[in-house]
Amino acid sequence: MNIDLIIQPIYLISAILFILSLLWMGHPSTARRGVFAGIVAMLAAIGGTLFEPGMNYTWIAIPVVIGCVLGVPLAMVPLTAVPQRTALSHAFGGLAAGLVGASEYYLSQATAHHSLSGFEIGALVAEVILGFLTFTGSLMAAGKLMEWIPTRPITYKGQNAMNLSLLGVALLAGVLLVIFPTWWFLFPIIILLALAFGVLLIIPIGGADMPTVIALLNSYAGLSAVAMGFVLDNKLLIAAGALDGSSGLILSIIMCKAMNRSFTNVLFGAFGQVQASSGAVEQRTVKSATAEDAAQIMSAARSVVIIPGYGMAVAQAQHRVRELFDELGREGVDVKFAIHPVAGRMPGHMNVLLAEAEIPYDKLIEMEEINPDMPETDVALIIGANDVINPAARHDKSSPIFGMPIIDADKAKTVFVIKRSMNPGFAGIENELFYGDNTLMLFGDAKAMLTGIVQALKE
Ligand code: NDP
Repeated sequence: MNIDLIIQPIYLISAILFILSLLWMGHPSTARRGVFAGIVAMLAAIGGTLFEPGMNYTWIAIPVVIGCVLGVPLAMVPLTAVPQRTALSHAFGGLAAGLVGASEYYLSQATAHHSLSGFEIGALVAEVILGFLTFTGSLMAAGKLMEWIPTRPITYKGQNAMNLSLLGVALLAGVLLVIFPTWWFLFPIIILLALAFGVLLIIPIGGADMPTVIALLNSYAGLSAVAMGFVLDNKLLIAAGALDGSSGLILSIIMCKAMNRSFTNVLFGAFGQVQASSGAVEQRTVKSATAEDAAQIMSAARSVVIIPGYGMAVAQAQHRVRELFDELGREGVDVKFAIHPVAGRMPGHMNVLLAEAEIPYDKLIEMEEINPDMPETDVALIIGANDVINPAARHDKSSPIFGMPIIDADKAKTVFVIKRSMNPGFAGIENELFYGDNTLMLFGDAKAMLTGIVQALKE
């Protein structure tokens, strides 16, 4: 019996499920179904591959065990560490693609019956370059997010020219390899250049641009899988890689738009330099208030807009936020949530946390939709957000975040800010909003402060 009659239908079902998975993950109400479809699609893909002729099950079992030993603890990280974990997953994906490409090339050199066509060598070179640059690039991105390496951009003169020349040399070596497939010595050169390019690509990019960069690296890992699909003649790998590559690209475009930046600006703009704090701002005073003050003002308000940020994730305060939402709702206050696309440390971070606390989806309002309502809003309650509500982005041309769309929290009649200190957020810059006439700081951990507010409301 032709084994393809079993494998190809399984691959087809898997590809359809991958597409449905992406479709369903596009909305919070169907996201769980999307994740489940993705898991089934991946299991089907693995199952189908196991039917391929010539499989050595021992050599498959060993990496599966190693993968599980590494993967299970990686999956257990807290939600706040998911961005760096995602970067590490991309690194492994890129490494796997690069290694498969390398083994295919050396196999073709060692065995006469395994020769590769010019097109296949071209695809292999693309796979290896993308795979290895994704590996080191993603490791650097994870290192920046974990703050193991400096998050600020490291720049030097002629950097872009040097990086592009490095990539150019790697591509040139790839073209030579297509023309002269037996010039095996070019292969390690390509690998080394790709590894170096991955590092050099990331060091000039500031920590604040990591969301876009991670989405872009996701896209590279997907494209590398597409190239691998051509080399191995595996249609599912081509389809799944293309979905991964395009969704990563779309996500990075969305992130760029959210920050009002262009791709070139993200990759070559050295954004996120730590700004010397301006003395004028430091000398101003801030007004602070207590949980009881906040409860009193909010219970008398008609409308409250809650603006969550990274601090809510750190404090794991989402369930307290839900209690506050319920309590204010009982008092007849209209409560909505303003969601900034780069709030937190990963795309959709706030949506995930608020969904976990079962806040109704229709109460989560995107930035562009909520901003026109902010001047009519009685209270803006900022919970551990900083960069995404910094008005400097609107008017201060010298600010590194100038031009990034923000939630106009400062336009509300009263602004409460829950945070522990006057420390800056991810971009490392001062926030003039904290010194505003209508701003009251609620200093403390978000969870403890919200517990206090809810308690005061109940009393
Ligand atoms: P920020 O990082 O700007 O600010 C978070 C604030 O939370 C800090 O100022 C901190 O102040 C406060 N905070 C921390 N822990 C607590 C706590 N336990 N209780 C109360 N407050 C706390 O967060 P934003 O969400 O406003 O902005 C996100 C930033 O991260 C942007 O610059 C974005 O570009 C970047 N980024 C986003 C990613 C994404 O995909 N969304 C990925 C990577 C980076 P204090 O220490 O005083 O408490």
